[in-house]
Amino acid sequence: MYKVTKTIDFCYGHRLLNYDGQCKYLHGHNGRLEIDVQSSSLDSKGMVIDFTVMKDSVKSWIDSVMDHRMILSSEDPLIPILKQAGQPIYVLQDNPTAENIAKHVFIQVKSSNIDVQEVRLWESPSSYASYSEEN
Ligand SMILES: [Zn+2]
Repeated sequence: MYKVTKTIDFCYGHRLLNYDGQCKYLHGHNGRLEIDVQSSSLDSKGMVIDFTVMKDSVKSWIDSVMDHRMILSSEDPLIPILKQAGQPIYVLQDNPTAENIAKHVFIQVKSSNIDVQEVRLWESPSSYASYSEEN
């Protein structure tokens, strides 16, 4: 089995709803995504996937919609206030935990016809959440 991993760094802010701790306040992270793509065979170029394809599809999507954005739950009452103030936001259906952001990225990558195996989101140098689907 072959596996390649694309790493994408981006900055984001968020806050967690229904959470009693520091993370209920708006704050930011220097996040690092690691996206694993696995294959039992290689293409005609000898690759699982060209890193350039990952860069052009996944990184450009992250850069355009999530980088330097506040990632908020659709239930967050701050959404209209921040919108009115011209602040760029990105809305998730669920609480914007590292787990839910990893899952969201996984689904987006998979929808680009990339055979993603796992997405890890490092929220800090010592903490990450991952999402994968069982085969
Ligand atoms: Zn946080």
